[in-house]
Amino acid sequence: MKTVVALPGQGIGIEVVDATCELLVGTGLPLKITTPPQGDPLPEETKRAAREADGVLFGAAGPATTSVVSWLRWEMQAWAGVRPIRFFPGMHSPLADPQGIDYVLLRENSEGLYPGREGALSDLIDVMPNLSDRTGRSIKDFGEEGRFAVKVVTPKGAERIARFACDLARKRQAKGKPGKVTCVTKSNVLRQTDGLFQQTAERIVREAGLQFEHFHVDDTARRLVRFPKSMDVVLCMNLYGDILSDLGAETAGGLGLAPSGNFGDGGWAYFESVHGSAPDIAGQGIANPTATILSAALMLEHMGMSAEAQRLESAVGRVYRDGKTLTPDQGGAAKTRDMAQAVLAAYRNA
Ligand code: NAD
Repeated sequence: MKTVVALPGQGIGIEVVDATCELLVGTGLPLKITTPPQGDPLPEETKRAAREADGVLFGAAGPATTSVVSWLRWEMQAWAGVRPIRFFPGMHSPLADPQGIDYVLLRENSEGLYPGREGALSDLIDVMPNLSDRTGRSIKDFGEEGRFAVKVVTPKGAERIARFACDLARKRQAKGKPGKVTCVTKSNVLRQTDGLFQQTAERIVREAGLQFEHFHVDDTARRLVRFPKSMDVVLCMNLYGDILSDLGAETAGGLGLAPSGNFGDGGWAYFESVHGSAPDIAGQGIANPTATILSAALMLEHMGMSAEAQRLESAVGRVYRDGKTLTPDQGGAAKTRDMAQAVLAAYRNA
């Protein structure tokens, strides 16, 4: 029996996690699913249960539940965000020819600008009065009023995510993919931070004998729309990965479709949809459960249930091919629970 801790977060997180857990129970797999209390701060008993569980499935954070995702991602240091972008026939992609979109966007989760180290400009001027930008303009020229944010890149952080990218690319290569890592930075302007990330990634990927390419983040945004099928593993710095994964999800058919697995040291991992709590549709029972169901498939794989994970993914594929039980974002009229139950029926009939 494997233990799973389900933490719904809020908004549609609750709806998609409920529907996914009902599906998982319906599969008859040997899973014991518990939903310990959330709260701010996250209760110690919940943290203990999540640390000890074989799998952790999270829904989506909103303003009242950021403590849950903060603990799962930052405090537990889940530094590698694996975000598969895959088109299943029947998904409502805005692209003319989405068939074959299948890549993994790998987001560095722990460094960069995203974690939010901010402060008053006056404090920065006090400690670094001579800090200047590439044009020679001094920080003092901005005056004392205002705020700043700090971007951090370390060789250790860049190296470990680049090695993770290589492992992913090798696993995909074994299944016929090209074995390529596309590194995404803005090293043309952020030469020290993004430059370090790019140089480190290039060294690690080339040492691994895999193909390496690099594009600036603005160019990458365009390429993910125009040439998504040329992508294999797309290695992104934190904030770029956050933004580009929404863009990638949309090319496949929408934000409700994109799953993720977040991995740290010592086997720590948790699984969640890429989307947030979607207050605009919360409470209506119409959220697409696909992202959470596919996140659950990634969780099954992590727990050593690869065949079941594949069977669940195939069941999702069948529901899209069939096209009869899709939520409104995919052009259907089904409720969240109905769509998850259709996936369960397809799983059982496999
Ligand atoms: P969002 O991802 O919640 O929603 C963006 C848009 O996508 C909305 O129109 C929403 O209706 C739609 N959408 C998202 N998931 C969907 C689904 N499963 N089915 C159908 N449509 C779906 O982003 P937002 O509105 O910018 O943020 C809302 C809240 O979520 C904020 O508090 C934000 O901080 C939080 N957030 C949390 C996470 C997370 O937990 N990992 C990620 C992103 C945003």
